[in-house]
Amino acid sequence: MATHYFSPGPASLPGQVRERIHRELLDTFGFGVSIMEISHRSKQYDELNAETLQLIRKVFQVPDTHSVLITPFGAQQHFSLVVHHLSAPGDTIAYTDTGIWAHLAVEEAKATDRKFAMIYDGQPHCLSLGNPKEWVLPKEARYLHLTVNNTVYGTEYARIPDHFEVPLVLDMTSALGARTDIPWDKTALVYASAQKNFGIAGASVVLIRNDILEASKAITKRNQLGNALSYHSIFAAKSALNTPPVFAIYAMNRMLQWMDALGGTPALEKLALEKAKAVYTELDAGFYIPRCVKENRSRHNFVFKLPTPELDEKFIKEALDHHIYEIKGYRNVGGVRCSMYNGVSLESALVFAEFMRDFRKRTGV
Ligand code: PLP
Repeated sequence: MATHYFSPGPASLPGQVRERIHRELLDTFGFGVSIMEISHRSKQYDELNAETLQLIRKVFQVPDTHSVLITPFGAQQHFSLVVHHLSAPGDTIAYTDTGIWAHLAVEEAKATDRKFAMIYDGQPHCLSLGNPKEWVLPKEARYLHLTVNNTVYGTEYARIPDHFEVPLVLDMTSALGARTDIPWDKTALVYASAQKNFGIAGASVVLIRNDILEASKAITKRNQLGNALSYHSIFAAKSALNTPPVFAIYAMNRMLQWMDALGGTPALEKLALEKAKAVYTELDAGFYIPRCVKENRSRHNFVFKLPTPELDEKFIKEALDHHIYEIKGYRNVGGVRCSMYNGVSLESALVFAEFMRDFRKRTGV
């Protein structure tokens, strides 16, 4: 029986990608050397790296106005790095606090000697993302930081706001590669770690406007940021400044090839919406209790409760009999959270929706 794995991250890889990695593991390049051993200065790695950078541009539809780099960091390191690349002491920086990860980004920003502007505070419950049309931004803000998909609470912008004059910094850790609406002309920087939508843990992608990358050279120098932490230095070294996490970048390459063959981000966005529709149709049938407001429902993380904590437990336990794994809610949220990133098949989504339906009919109203 197939396994239906709905982990919030690291997440499922498509079967084809896993099989390919398995096949190539011991002899990745055809001369008896594996990706785990290859020198990052070899011709073979050089080609893999260059191809991965091109695939990122193609699959994520990154325009020429923005540069692509792969960093050996997780998303959390970018919470701090963006502050030091895009602003100097005394500058104003603007944030929204819409979830666990957004809050950590806020904490990092507040810990610096910038003027901090909270534009929307959804804490403590984070049931909605507010109304971006009503937000008032300080004109002088260097950027506005948004978390596009809030992985823990299951909220996501139906459309990424694109009406601000202040440039956006987007945490797209659980959304990149599944949304076509990045407003590039309004976006200073996008960052995302790979382990949800386009690979495994160990590397993240930064997409940064060319002029902002150039300007960051002087800003990071003034901020006394270490050279190896600088986006510009990493970019100048073609994303191989220090020994890169070659296995994670290789896995990203294989995942991006799979995404490309499927039709890239537009095809994956369509698929994500289809999977989400299967779950939300059942969620709206009147038994399950969705956590957040309808207009901000995530297309990646489905967070809900059953009428009692005992039923939550029964649901999660019975799911195991159907080979449905990793659907327990985050520790401070409880209930159920089922996550479906690019690697989760439509078939698995339909199995989960059917399980919900069956459970409701047997147990519910
Ligand atoms: N941002 C978001 C939206 C996330 O969902 C996560 C992890 O789940 C992070 C940041 C942190 O990612 P990392 O573990 O790569 O630092």
